[in-house]
Amino acid sequence: MDKGTKEEKSHAQHTDDNPDEKKQNSSKVESSEAEDQSEMERLRKYLAQKLRLIDLSNDQTDESQQSTLRELNLDGIVEYIKEKESCKIITMAGAGISTSAGIPDFRSPSSGLYHKLDKYNLPHPQAIFELDFFMKNPEPFFTLARELLPEGFKPTLSHYFIRMLWEKGLLLRHYTQNIDTLERVAGLPPDKLVEAHGTFHTGRCLKCRAPYTLSWMKEKIIEGVIPKCEECNEGVVKPDIVFFGEMLPDRFQMLADRDFEQADLLIIMGSSLVVQPFASLIDRVRSTCPRLLINNEKVGMQDRLSRFLGLRQGLVFDTKNTYGGRDVAWLGTCDTGCQLLADKLGWGDELRALVQREHESLNTESRSNN
Ligand SMILES: [Zn+2]
Repeated sequence: MDKGTKEEKSHAQHTDDNPDEKKQNSSKVESSEAEDQSEMERLRKYLAQKLRLIDLSNDQTDESQQSTLRELNLDGIVEYIKEKESCKIITMAGAGISTSAGIPDFRSPSSGLYHKLDKYNLPHPQAIFELDFFMKNPEPFFTLARELLPEGFKPTLSHYFIRMLWEKGLLLRHYTQNIDTLERVAGLPPDKLVEAHGTFHTGRCLKCRAPYTLSWMKEKIIEGVIPKCEECNEGVVKPDIVFFGEMLPDRFQMLADRDFEQADLLIIMGSSLVVQPFASLIDRVRSTCPRLLINNEKVGMQDRLSRFLGLRQGLVFDTKNTYGGRDVAWLGTCDTGCQLLADKLGWGDELRALVQREHESLNTESRSNN
């Protein structure tokens, strides 16, 4: 959730660079398309070695990667899943899997949510998710939380597709940027879930760290009172969502380290892949692991410099100039993409039935609660 780290990352990437050399390189890139490939390769290795950017003993940018997927489209992915014995899939998701549930994109100042906060005179919209500001004035956050409370929102088809991957024994882990708890509502077991930016599901007193449940916090928030700790009678209870400048949950660091190198397939859904460190998870899978992006537009793509240096950084959809052949972009809404993928895997009707059954039971539940 730390927006600052995006700049940090691109900055870090250049720190070893000689500026003149870099300038030269990028003009070289521009005129290189038609150049002799082996010359490029030699230069690339030379630079990479000089800049110590890659470990050449482990350089796998060779032709062997070409066989990862037979076709660079959904069919290629489906064939890969079917042929692979117990394919271990990691899914990564952002706000795009929840938009059809009606969850407003609260990070965007244009979402309208921020107008409700006018009376608080925030120094800037993001202040609402800054810990320092929250400690001084928690009221704007809880006003916004009332609008965002996971109440009455139903998981989308995409959420149930992820659950289905789990039921089929194919889900290694689901990493989400969302704090809306819809993965839990959809029935995904907590051990299969990494809520990278935290969750509304639990909360904690900022003073004595006493834990609180969603239903306890929800009651206060709906009443319009700031949830105050009942243990120490002093601290404000903050939902366990990650604010700007806060560390990501330990669970994220710990599991990411071991999950990604084991994955056979990565499916990224509805994320613009700009928030770090979440976005760079895509580079932590093995160099032969196919990556499918289901999103409204292509995102997270390799930039020119890392392409030139042969760094495995970012998605490569256009394989004309690379040795790749493992990244697929399917453009459209997450729900449409997931249904199509399920259809092709032969689970289409099962998924539709699951969504219908679960939504009906959630409707009944909410009627009996009211
Ligand atoms: Zn307390």
